[in-house]
Amino acid sequence: MGRLIMNELIQRAARDIAGSGYTIALTGAGMSTESGIPDFRGPQGVWTKNPEAEKRAYRGYQDFLQDPGRYWKERLTSSTGALGELGAREPNPGHHALVELEKMGLLKCTITQNVDALHERAGTRHLLEYHGSFAKLRCVSCNARFRRDEFDLERLMREDRLPPRCSKCGGIVKGDTVGFGEPIPEDVANQSLEEAWKCDLMLICGTSAVVYPFANLPRIARQKTREAQREAAGSLAAMGRVPVVTIIEVNAEPTPLTQDGVSDYIIQGKTGDVLPAIAE
Ligand code: NAD
Repeated sequence: MGRLIMNELIQRAARDIAGSGYTIALTGAGMSTESGIPDFRGPQGVWTKNPEAEKRAYRGYQDFLQDPGRYWKERLTSSTGALGELGAREPNPGHHALVELEKMGLLKCTITQNVDALHERAGTRHLLEYHGSFAKLRCVSCNARFRRDEFDLERLMREDRLPPRCSKCGGIVKGDTVGFGEPIPEDVANQSLEEAWKCDLMLICGTSAVVYPFANLPRIARQKTREAQREAAGSLAAMGRVPVVTIIEVNAEPTPLTQDGVSDYIIQGKTGDVLPAIAE
């Protein structure tokens, strides 16, 4: 993308966000590649380079369902996962820029697919971790979240008392990250839907938008406008009252949202460059 066009689009996005009533951000793995965490489907992605790793990833939740105790033992004894040592990574300028927009009162909510906890560490306050967080555990019965250090997992393993049990309801506790085939926890799923309905601007950062149901959120926001337009068709006065949703993508490459006309425009570049420029 030419620098002139890029600068114009950054200006346009800044104006759109400043003029919006309720901006939310949706983020994906591309947001964290500049923190040294590979994405899955980008040109250097874990699965682009190693399709076998994708097949293995599909098994994790099934293993948990079959035998939660064994799932835990394997987790505690295996080496680090496909994304490496997430606790050692730091938020990058893209994460910090979203915090700035939130502090300005413009960004109301960040919904992330990332499990790396970098938005939380950067200081985002209203955060929905759609696929959970590697730094937390979750009760599969009541959805209570726990910090990892609230359990002495090594001791539970030594004493053959895995899986851990929820201190609130006694349910089985698993890692908070959502595996393939695992339902999105009801609380974050519902809150995310509400946010998608409520927003008038959606800033979508670093996601290939092919993982569902997350990828439905922009489509729902777009659908909302289209339905209202259909209902108002024929009446100029009613058309004037139709809520307009602006959907902006910041991504290294076009996505199905770009191709299907779900987003209004894409700023093709790195989130670590583009988001700070928008915030500035
Ligand atoms: P994805 O890997 O499918 O797509 C990432 C997208 O971001 C690609 O389109 C890529 O071109 C783009 N991208 C890469 N670096 C970028 C940058 N610096 N700036 C702008 N764009 C960039 O990721 P996804 O859509 O989030 O789906 C992957 C799933 O895997 C998610 O559900 C997520 O839970 C999980 N995941 C998480 C992490 C993490 O927590 N950091 C990392 C990998 C995968």
